[in-house]
Amino acid sequence: MNATNAYDYILVGLGAATINLLFSLEKLSLLGQVTILILEPNAKETNDRTWCFWTNQKDPAFVLNQPVISHHWPRVLLNGSQAESMAPYQYVHLRSKEVYQRAKALIAEHKTITWLQEPVTELSENGHGAQAQTPAGEFQARYIFDSRPPQKPIAASEILWQSFVGWRIRTQKPVFETDLCTLMDFEVPQFKGTQFMYVLPTSPTEALVEFTRFGRAVLSEAESTPILEKYIQGKNWGAFEILENEVNKIPMTLALNPKQAHHAEQTKVIPMGGSAGAIKASTGFAYKKIAEHTWRVAEALKAEKPLPTPYHPWHFNLYDEMLLRLLSEKPQLGKPIFKRMFERTPIQEVFQFLDEESSFRTDLGIMWRMPWKPFLWSAAYTLMGHRSLQVASKPKHAY
Ligand SMILES: Cc1cc2nc3c(=O)[nH]c(=O)nc-3n(C[C@H](O)[C@H](O)[C@H](O)COP(=O)(O)OP(=O)(O)OC[C@H]3O[C@@H](n4cnc5c(N)ncnc54)[C@H](O)[C@@H]3O)c2cc1C
Repeated sequence: MNATNAYDYILVGLGAATINLLFSLEKLSLLGQVTILILEPNAKETNDRTWCFWTNQKDPAFVLNQPVISHHWPRVLLNGSQAESMAPYQYVHLRSKEVYQRAKALIAEHKTITWLQEPVTELSENGHGAQAQTPAGEFQARYIFDSRPPQKPIAASEILWQSFVGWRIRTQKPVFETDLCTLMDFEVPQFKGTQFMYVLPTSPTEALVEFTRFGRAVLSEAESTPILEKYIQGKNWGAFEILENEVNKIPMTLALNPKQAHHAEQTKVIPMGGSAGAIKASTGFAYKKIAEHTWRVAEALKAEKPLPTPYHPWHFNLYDEMLLRLLSEKPQLGKPIFKRMFERTPIQEVFQFLDEESSFRTDLGIMWRMPWKPFLWSAAYTLMGHRSLQVASKPKHAY
């Protein structure tokens, strides 16, 4: 497109989804061939989040972000038991600041990309193209990729929160094994939800220690501080200082999950990232799904094929719905359910299952080894048609 204020693509927001879209377009040698306008009001200069995911090093999240992966852990400590290898998987870590810097370098390299530090106030589409309203005027494009938070409120009864308070700590003596991470250590008090700890060491004296809750009530710093302190003391890591803290929350909901695998041809405003339903409802993990979706979108743009959504196959939606209901209604069961899953199923199979890449046979095996009574209760609930997580409806709010 070459009319003034008209572009091939407009990216609304410069976050995980649209950045991975830029990386995908670059990998497919499309970046120089299309005009792109980025509308993002934020300067994207701070390290506002840490992104971690497990990877077999073949998935788009790893391939697209490899140059900025700042740490990888080939071994895991689960449930406080023995350390084990995750091969062929690793757990990896990205600092968002470095991802933003890499995206900015890519933008600076391409004259075809313009970044306006403006917020979008409204988006519309007319079947042939789409329009974005901003305080600086209206812009048009063949497609608009929208990664803003959801614009319509979601009922509180349909959301469970993954909330977390993380401390990046530095100890005085070397205490950490840098190739070993701790995922989901449930040996912490269980109240107001299912609660666990992550420990992600990045040097012998530095680690991110993160207290996490799956629950309706969002974790506060005041609640978390004594638990983090006690956990760290219990590990005998000695004196430490806090270098950074991360306090945030991720919505765990099925309400945003797309109903179709592809968008209709006339749809020109394409939701991306969290608001498109890329966050896995039962875990809050999203980065891999986001990167995989953006990669498939870029491939479809290149091939001029229908654009995909971050669709979750129906049976994974069903598992998520059952687990989410259990975590919501019977949070005391979260710890035994996850512990059982990690104790009785090889970690590689658990990763495939959570990535929605497992076979039906693997899924059945995992289910079989789970405490079956609560799942039967949850399945009965689902079959009775209670779609929301809670029976009583609560006030609506946006996340
Ligand atoms: C602190 C934190 C840590 C996380 N860690 C992990 C993790 O370890 N692993 C994992 O798998 N997932 C993680 N997630 C979940 C998920 O991966 C992230 O939320 C991810 O950033 C979502 O990507 P996104 O593109 O949808 O949104 P974002 O990355 O949040 O990007 C949205 C962008 O839209 C911009 N925007 C907002 N309003 C407007 C507007 N009106 N006009 C234009 N732009 C606008 C924002 O400024 C922002 O830059 C984490 C989430 C959080 C909050």
